[in-house]
Amino acid sequence: MAPAIKRFVCSVVCLAAAAGLSAAAFAADTAIRVRVLEASRSVSVEIAGAFSIIDQASGHVLYQAAGASARLTSDPQGLVFGNRRLASRDIVIAGEPAVAVSLNKRSYRGTLRCTLLPDGNVRCINTINVEAYVKGIAIREISHYWPKEALRAHAVVFRTYALYQMRQNKANPFDVTSDVYSQVYGGKDAERYRISEAVDETKGEVLTYRQALIPAFYHSTCGGATEDAGELWDMRIGPLAGQICPYCQEAPYYRWKAQVKAKTICRALRAGGYPCAEIRDITVISRTASSRAKEIKIGGSGQPVLLSGKTFRALLGADVIRSTRFQVKRAGDGFVFSGEGWGHGVGLCQWGAYAMAKGGSTYVEILQQYYPGTQLETYETF
Ligand SMILES: [Zn+2]
Repeated sequence: MAPAIKRFVCSVVCLAAAAGLSAAAFAADTAIRVRVLEASRSVSVEIAGAFSIIDQASGHVLYQAAGASARLTSDPQGLVFGNRRLASRDIVIAGEPAVAVSLNKRSYRGTLRCTLLPDGNVRCINTINVEAYVKGIAIREISHYWPKEALRAHAVVFRTYALYQMRQNKANPFDVTSDVYSQVYGGKDAERYRISEAVDETKGEVLTYRQALIPAFYHSTCGGATEDAGELWDMRIGPLAGQICPYCQEAPYYRWKAQVKAKTICRALRAGGYPCAEIRDITVISRTASSRAKEIKIGGSGQPVLLSGKTFRALLGADVIRSTRFQVKRAGDGFVFSGEGWGHGVGLCQWGAYAMAKGGSTYVEILQQYYPGTQLETYETF
């Protein structure tokens, strides 16, 4: 039985006293820096309201207007806005409160810092309150029609993961990217009413373990048991050690099959730097505690190739080999993989959370199931 999650929802002072935490560590930096654009020489900018363009280094206002529709372009001397040279390589575009700034037709809350990089490309970073960020990512990760308790559980998970990334990337120019390498972020246009409500209803709530934020990993479907994070990454975190999950059977990829030709597998192995001329057999030689393929042996005409299940899945494609919880058999000119679940399997099983919520569990119970031993605490947002 998982230990109960203690729940602290109180002020900074009470939080620090109750948990022995440095609450200020949670309170100080609630603005996340999201890289929304890079490798571009020209960006369309639209602002339907008053805004300023400020030089990042000096804080001087370079330009102000009541609205704009112009291109921000790269020039050897600096950035150019419309036909106005800004005499700066590093600017902040800040709308008045409630005025969103659109870059390449995507609308963002908060401010946008655009920098001319040494290679001549422009990089733009959206600095935004983490609560608004969570509202801007959720729709790309879950359905807003899901039960409210599932949405609340996800809001806590997304927020925790975002804040964890902020701690990790303090010294870097940005905390997260807006693509699949972080959490997919769509800005203001990606917000949905029920999700925003769930974010507001859990405002500031994060998962901690031993007085530190956890990397709150999540995935689509575990297929029966979640994975120990230590099997994939260099980390040992009690709440991420893996759990039995009897909840995700309704998921579209609770079970899946993939038939892959031997020559396709060979091509994927070669692309990853492994030798491959022909494949005679594929054997899972060891499994993790959650029955996922840990080490795989590929036999052919030469020396057998050994690689991890994680690498094998990455080489063949995460949408082909949907999880490493699979069996493999020879079939015709290729192999059939019969698997369970979709994703790396660590942390929250999203379809499990959906089924638990449908069955009447609260978001606190859902979080307790997938991150046992964690505490649900509140960081001070404002
Ligand atoms: Zn599951």
